[in-house]
Amino acid sequence: MAIKLIVPVNGPITQLFGENPDIYKKWGFPGHNGIDYGIPNGTPINSAAAGTVNQVSFENGGYGNYVKVAHQDGSKTLYTYYAHLASAAVAAGQKVKAGQLIGYSNNTGASTGPHLHFGLKIDGQNPAYKGYVDPMPYFQSSGTTTPETPSTTEQGDFVSLPDLKFEVTYDTLNLRNGPGVEYSIIGQLTKGAKFTSKKLSSRSVWVEVEPGKWCALQFEGTIYLKVSK
Ligand SMILES: [Zn+2]
Repeated sequence: MAIKLIVPVNGPITQLFGENPDIYKKWGFPGHNGIDYGIPNGTPINSAAAGTVNQVSFENGGYGNYVKVAHQDGSKTLYTYYAHLASAAVAAGQKVKAGQLIGYSNNTGASTGPHLHFGLKIDGQNPAYKGYVDPMPYFQSSGTTTPETPSTTEQGDFVSLPDLKFEVTYDTLNLRNGPGVEYSIIGQLTKGAKFTSKKLSSRSVWVEVEPGKWCALQFEGTIYLKVSK
């Protein structure tokens, strides 16, 4: 996981990777194959990393207008997808920098509201998802957030969340005093419990429930939390 991605747009996450298996069955995925950001139509979308535009295309009933960018990570090629766009601001074959404008958001293709669908694909990985993987662990900490009060947890890479609401979808979910299984269990959440989080560990998928209390979003394909609206 050498490559670090930047978040392609600032907006609330409305659907995480792996959510809503029933909806994604028809595309042959065990769940949502990317991350959705709920944003108004026309929002500028930026490339998540430096790379080369691989494809600018339209997929009726799927991604709508989308841009696919190829990124080299050592010997591996990774692809990022930006879907349901109004229009692209780049052309296939063009080199882009991290954070460079690649298009404007909309609601084209199979989409029920204005949003960006962001996907990450690594050939040969995660066969159940045809190579799509959860982009969340690849995001570097946001350099644009204002410093918070010093955290007592060890220094790591964290992503600030825009007060995202979560609901526990697993029977019992362990709460730990840090973002990782190496931390002590200090309590449990039960199915249906709701909380608002401002912070996510980007190294592995851990969410801060309240200061000093963390739980895992998912482990080995089992999803523990969903975003509640
Ligand atoms: Zn999506």
